[in-house]
Amino acid sequence: MATTIEEKEVTVFGEEEAKQLVNELRVAYDSGRTRSYSWRVAQLKNILRMCDDSEKEVVEALHKDLAKPELESTLYERDNTGGRQLANIGVLYLMKWGDAVVGSALQLGMIKNACKVALKELKNWIRPEKAKTSLTTFPSSAEIVSEPFGVILIISAWNYPFCRFMLSIDPVIGAIAAGNAVLLKPSELAPASSSLLAKLFAQYLDTCSIKVVEGAVSETSALLEQKWDKIMYTGNGRVGRIVMAAAAKHLTPVIMELGGKCPVVVDSDINLQVAVRRLIAGKWGCNNGQACISPDYILTTKDYAPKLVDALKTELEKFYGKNQLESKDLSRIVNSNHFARLSKLLEDEKVSGKIVYGGERDKDKLRIAPTILLDVLRDSLIMNEEIFGPLLPILTLNNIDESFNVINSGTKPLAAYIFTNNKKLKEKFVMSVSAGGIVINDTTIHMAVHTVPFGGVGESGMGSYHGKFSFDAFSHKKAVVYRSFTGDAALRYPPYTGFKLRM
Ligand code: NAD
Repeated sequence: MATTIEEKEVTVFGEEEAKQLVNELRVAYDSGRTRSYSWRVAQLKNILRMCDDSEKEVVEALHKDLAKPELESTLYERDNTGGRQLANIGVLYLMKWGDAVVGSALQLGMIKNACKVALKELKNWIRPEKAKTSLTTFPSSAEIVSEPFGVILIISAWNYPFCRFMLSIDPVIGAIAAGNAVLLKPSELAPASSSLLAKLFAQYLDTCSIKVVEGAVSETSALLEQKWDKIMYTGNGRVGRIVMAAAAKHLTPVIMELGGKCPVVVDSDINLQVAVRRLIAGKWGCNNGQACISPDYILTTKDYAPKLVDALKTELEKFYGKNQLESKDLSRIVNSNHFARLSKLLEDEKVSGKIVYGGERDKDKLRIAPTILLDVLRDSLIMNEEIFGPLLPILTLNNIDESFNVINSGTKPLAAYIFTNNKKLKEKFVMSVSAGGIVINDTTIHMAVHTVPFGGVGESGMGSYHGKFSFDAFSHKKAVVYRSFTGDAALRYPPYTGFKLRM
């Protein structure tokens, strides 16, 4: 069924195979096994054990797929627990990136944290929620029962294959916690990670109810022909539309985790060095910009831009040295298609002369150095698609307030950021910018806060997850109203006499 891309072993996976797998999952779900509290707990504990046992393999797979620095894998793929997260961020600021010793010392993972939260809270999440009733239904009581949807399809993207907060395992944790059977289809663009996920899931989890199918468009299309009870898709909006159209045929509800252009507004009333370091961590420290919530472009004033560019250059050199193409602390571009796409953005005549830092590329090694473009025009190519790479355009404005119009005139981003000490500006940003999530004075870290939902709005997606939101995303909220046989008011029954109508 699954294909191991490395060995070029090609096993046909078509509609028949997809149908059979969904049937197996449905049989498992219908048996009731996935609904039991003990099954959910056992699977979550197995994921914890799987993480403990396979850290080395995970780091190796990520390195194969993305040449991801070990510390970055450790920070973003493995660790996201409250105190530990703070420690990590502290470490990031205090140390030179890529220090393998510190990297290997950071043990607990983001996936583990998601499991631990689910294990700790599961009883509360499962418990029916009491609801108020009205006089109209007196006497009655009501509750909301969280019911699993049934059989779930999760299609994930390549950029954070193991990460708790996105793509593969975090949604699976939510689906399991909610009592569903689940099939995960990881991305073919990260083949080492995809085959490792298939291997580990088969080894550690209940294979009757939790399955992995590897593959690309044809395998995904075969899966999408089937009837699922809910589909979660993470990736770009073009494919998102294909997934939604397939889901519509069966009236299957969807969660869409898409992308977009995440803006960063940089005001002049800031601690410039801290702001710039946090910008770099969110941009080049996240897969070299290949992350859905990485800063896509900066908005600042004409007066402040030169200062900002200088500070970015200084900190970038401190982090990655002078020869950034060779830096081991930066991920490479995932494949030659994405490399060519990013190169085209740099070759657009509308951005010629705008590169003020970086721009170096190595086609053979698929490496692009951190690149800053200044005074970029809004009609250039780079401003009209999600960059998803190490290029950072800066748009300059006469007044920082203009940034709100620029952001709101585009499609709604997955994340929006602002650096400022100005209270009024912060409030205005929160109230007037529509985005999946907002962070004030930092970038990307909202994905580490499991008490807030993670998801998009408008073209950046629909539905959200993380923590309890993942459980809710994969649970139908069933309304249950209880009545006894007493208090049966004659008023609701015919004949509707004048007296009843006057009541
Ligand atoms: P990708 O190429 O890995 O594709 C995602 C999934 O779609 C894969 O599993 C792939 O097999 C499948 N797919 C591709 N073409 C298909 C087709 N024609 N029919 C059916 N399935 C198909 O990932 P990508 O789209 O390049 O990922 C990058 C995009 O994802 C960016 O836009 C990024 O912002 C977004 N993203 C969003 C989030 C989020 O949490 N919101 C997280 C990561 C990435």
